[in-house]
Amino acid sequence: VKYSEEQAKRKKLFNEFQEAKGNIRVFCRCRPLSKEEISAGSTKIVEFDAAKDGCLGILTGGSTKKSFKFDRVYTPNNDQVDVFEDASPMVTSVLDGYNVCIFAYGQTGTGKTFTMEGTEQNRGVNYRTLEHLFNIAKERSETFTYSIAVSVLEVYNEQIRDLLATSPTSKKLEIKQASEGFLHVPGIVEAKVDNIREVWSVLHAGSNARAVGSNNVNEHSSRSHCMLCIMVKAKNLVNGECTKSKLWLVDLAGSERLSKTDVQGERLKEAQNINRSLAALGDVISALATKSSHIPYRNSKLTHLLQDSLGGDSKTLMFVQISPSDRDLGETLSSLNFASRVRGIELGPAKKQL
Ligand code: ADP
Repeated sequence: VKYSEEQAKRKKLFNEFQEAKGNIRVFCRCRPLSKEEISAGSTKIVEFDAAKDGCLGILTGGSTKKSFKFDRVYTPNNDQVDVFEDASPMVTSVLDGYNVCIFAYGQTGTGKTFTMEGTEQNRGVNYRTLEHLFNIAKERSETFTYSIAVSVLEVYNEQIRDLLATSPTSKKLEIKQASEGFLHVPGIVEAKVDNIREVWSVLHAGSNARAVGSNNVNEHSSRSHCMLCIMVKAKNLVNGECTKSKLWLVDLAGSERLSKTDVQGERLKEAQNINRSLAALGDVISALATKSSHIPYRNSKLTHLLQDSLGGDSKTLMFVQISPSDRDLGETLSSLNFASRVRGIELGPAKKQL
């Protein structure tokens, strides 16, 4: 009885949230102006008058303004709790057997890592997601048993690295099709987590490993995609049915275009790989929207890894992160245009009803 009541409540919440439109959501989050920007005389170009309705305006110079609409708009005053509250219905649906992909897109320095990872005092979507999964699993423990495992990967220059591996493996990690139709990366660590206390240390180990072997940690993380994969196995204790689902939480590489004259050699290769994978993500979403017979998942490691969590009846949430500063106008418009393109696209109807 408790479960069906909860299910009814969730269904209502989810339907409101769906706004009767496809299964892709775009939430826009703007960070505050930094101390450095304020002292350098930067001005704010983002207007939040209609943020409650998902609208925001960008002052593009003179008296001109460009308006955008998303499923949610967060002002610099919104905190991590506000953000997760809106994302949590999607997280819950993983326990109902849906595959879900949540990713943060935007220029370096706009808060992608702040939103996804957060800090120990101010935890982000990754930690809160696992906390939420454990809470719901506990509430449903009379009807279901769940087993939750976590992998942390990095994609850098089109190569997959296992951030939970204790020793660096010389073997190239490849994506394979598993027997149940799921994609997997043979040989990667899948850390089983039984409670929230174990989670922080796993996530921490993952982010520490990101730094290994790079001269500049911040630069390196801005040029690689950090991908947390949560695998959930559910068993219904009443009818014995088992389901498997997957949730990806992705902190994408910075979307900024580097000026051609500035980049050479290794940096040029990195920049090309980033552009290629972010463009591939846009292309996959477009191909899904137009119901194209060929979805180009294989054009990048990023989209190939996400293949079974993008499209079909899976649910997608994109955070588009922006800077409030006039100095970032060009990149802000480019991110918002990318996000508008993604939002205008319906990733196929949700086949299962909650
Ligand atoms: P990115 O991952 O996009 O490169 P970061 O997450 O590293 O960006 O954020 C850049 C800086 O801005 C960090 O110092 C971060 O703490 C700060 N920041 C980002 N978003 C917010 C926010 N919503 N509120 C307060 N500070 C933020």
